[in-house]
Amino acid sequence: MYDSLIYGQEPVPALPANEPVRSYAPGSPERAAIDAELRSMAADPIEIPLVIGGEEIRTGRLKEIRAPHDHSLVLGRYHEAGEAEAVMAAEAAAVAYRGWSETPFQERAAVFRKAADLISSGWWKTLNAATMLGQSKNAYQAEIDATCETADFFRINPALAERLYAEQPRSGAGERNLTDYRPLDGFVYAVTPFNFTAIAANLPSAPALMGNVVVWKPASTSVLSNWHLMRLYKAAGLPDGVINFLPGSAKSISAGVLSRPDLAGLHFTGSTAVFNSLWKSVADNLSTYRSYPRLIGETGGKDFVFVHPDADMDAAIAACVRGAFEYQGQKCSAASRLYLPRSSAARFLERLSEEISSISVGAPSDHGNFVNAVIDEAAFDTIVGYIERARANPSCRIVAGGGYDKSKGFFISPTLIVSDDPRSEPMASEIFGPVLTAYAYDDSDMPAAYALVDETTPYALTGAIFASDRSTIIEATGALRHAAGNFYINDKPTGAVVGRQPFGGARGSGTNDKAGSFLNLVRWTSSRTIKETFAPPTDWRYPFMG
Ligand code: NAD
Repeated sequence: MYDSLIYGQEPVPALPANEPVRSYAPGSPERAAIDAELRSMAADPIEIPLVIGGEEIRTGRLKEIRAPHDHSLVLGRYHEAGEAEAVMAAEAAAVAYRGWSETPFQERAAVFRKAADLISSGWWKTLNAATMLGQSKNAYQAEIDATCETADFFRINPALAERLYAEQPRSGAGERNLTDYRPLDGFVYAVTPFNFTAIAANLPSAPALMGNVVVWKPASTSVLSNWHLMRLYKAAGLPDGVINFLPGSAKSISAGVLSRPDLAGLHFTGSTAVFNSLWKSVADNLSTYRSYPRLIGETGGKDFVFVHPDADMDAAIAACVRGAFEYQGQKCSAASRLYLPRSSAARFLERLSEEISSISVGAPSDHGNFVNAVIDEAAFDTIVGYIERARANPSCRIVAGGGYDKSKGFFISPTLIVSDDPRSEPMASEIFGPVLTAYAYDDSDMPAAYALVDETTPYALTGAIFASDRSTIIEATGALRHAAGNFYINDKPTGAVVGRQPFGGARGSGTNDKAGSFLNLVRWTSSRTIKETFAPPTDWRYPFMG
């Protein structure tokens, strides 16, 4: 209010409240409801089509969906799209563009606001159960993702867009000036990762909210929950062809989409290597495009927890356990490298190892399990490769976990490695699994310790510092200014909430167009400036010429 008075603006309306998080505590109604939903979904495998222009398309090229925590559990099958279907989807999007790009904003927003309310009033069970079974998330992780973050994107993005549309130029005497926030001049290609149902929701829906049409390629390991999002859009009244759903071969679909003249944007979240390859393909096709495609990508991370000698050890340990091992460390923001002061590292590691040893691992249907399975065999093998190379590395010791078993599901024990080399592979590479690596820094040289955090990896996504003294907090916040796009003080580096911690990183972690903020939404508009003169001059001669 005070700032508004200073700048002479209207007070900014408050953002909608975040979706309340259900606890799933024993005896709670949500616990009974989700258990029933899990049983019914697991007993009833479904067949998932593509959706192009509102039509369900079955290619006959079928892939099985199995639960990561139980290979014998078949949850369904999906039809795979290829290059031909990608072309069809881009054409269907172009047809839908005519109506959708002219649909008034409040009508577009109403679709997503309705989707949010449908989630709150019942769809939460479907989205959570599909995420638990298909992506192996426990009830709480599914709740904060598939239900809460998704509903938050659907409610808060419209409110942020209203603020953007309200941003208008001044009009002088005798004129009217206007910014017309047009959608992009073509379609948006949304490519989503497996690890968050909410990201799969946001990447197509944020451009669609701004009047764009979308060809959406979901990850092949999250097709089940992503299909239910498509059903939700239909139930919320999204017109046919605005979002087209294309599970299938990433390479063939990209080949069909990226060479089209009307590609106007790429909304990507996933690994840095894949984003780089998509960027290169766009660059190779540059002369084909009608306009310069917007390239928005949120990519990998190697996220740090830095513990200062004056930190609260209990808080830092709890943050390490949650930050590194929730959802099996398969969060771009997961704590992955830990910096401890040499003076107290031994005690910290001993206590952290004890906590890690108490974590139970297993299927998400057993609510006692904090850690579930990693997403698929390829991920399992990659993570195990990192663990085994660390075991063989003379600079590394595995002090907790280190076990794994893929006989029933892809289970990897939460693992703590200690490395004497601050640039060893597990300290520097994104592992994307339940593995945390610690290094004890020399606490008599803090500038060198901060430099190490800043320079060890190409990424700059999230990071956390634990410290008590305010001057230490100020010093670390300054020294690590470019090391993380989301910086946490005395908190874990995961768990960003829409409307409260806009999310994204720079350097090798992406274009930093903060999901869940107007900074992202503005990228899906191409503004037109309109000037109208009410009484235009009728003589071209200026007075000075007299
Ligand atoms: P991924 O890069 O393997 O896949 C992401 C998407 O790209 C999937 O839909 C996949 O099918 C598709 N893809 C793969 N190869 C492709 C190609 N050649 N052409 C076009 N598309 C292709 O990532 P993932 O395993 O799904 O997710 C894990 C990665 O995502 C990690 O690196 C993680 O850090 C990152 N991530 C980042 C954020 C963030 O906000 N920064 C959030 C979530 C995940």
